[in-house]
Amino acid sequence: MASLNWSYQGNNVVTGGPLTGNYRLHQFHFHWGQTDDHGSEHTVDGEKYASELHLVHWNSDKYSSFAEASDKPDGLSIIAVFLKVGPPNEHVQDIVKAVGSIKTKGKKAPFTNFDPSTLLPGSLDYWTYSGSLTHPPLFESVTWIIYKEPITISSEQLAQFRSLTLTNHRLPQPLKGRQVRT
Ligand SMILES: [Zn+2]
Repeated sequence: MASLNWSYQGNNVVTGGPLTGNYRLHQFHFHWGQTDDHGSEHTVDGEKYASELHLVHWNSDKYSSFAEASDKPDGLSIIAVFLKVGPPNEHVQDIVKAVGSIKTKGKKAPFTNFDPSTLLPGSLDYWTYSGSLTHPPLFESVTWIIYKEPITISSEQLAQFRSLTLTNHRLPQPLKGRQVRT
C-alpha cells in the first residue's frame, strides 16, 4: 500500500488508504513559522518545511458530529501536506485572499466552492501513523496521512500568512514509538 486512491468528489468526504469508512472534512488550516526555514509540524529526517497544511476530517460513518468523534481512537483523520518555498501557488493564493478577511470578520474565513484536492501534490505517496491532535485537546484520535511530496508556496505568500497572525506552529513532537507505515 503506497498510495491513496480517493477524491473529494465535491462532497468533501475521503475514504481509502488506511481509513475504514468515510471521513468528512471539518476544517483546514496552515502552520508556518517566523522565517521560511521552519514552520511545519512534522519533520522528515530532521528536515523542516516552511509550512504544513492540515485537512481535518471526522468519521461520519460512525459518529454524528466532529465533537463526538474527536476523542475516539478512530474518530479523526488529518491529511497533512508540506509546503516548500518555490513558485507561487495559485490555489494557496485563493486562500491567502480569503484569509485576509479574517482580520475584520473574526477567526474563521468562509469558503465557497473550495476543492481540497487542488491542494494535494501530484504524487499520492504518503506516510501514515496513529497519533494525537497536535493542538489541545491532545486526544489520541487521529489517523495521520502525510503526503511525501510537498507543494510549493512563495516567500511572498508566506509573508502574507505571517502578516495575519503571530507564529502558530508548535515544535515537532516525538513519535513516541508510533509506527509510520507507507
Ligand atoms: Zn494543525
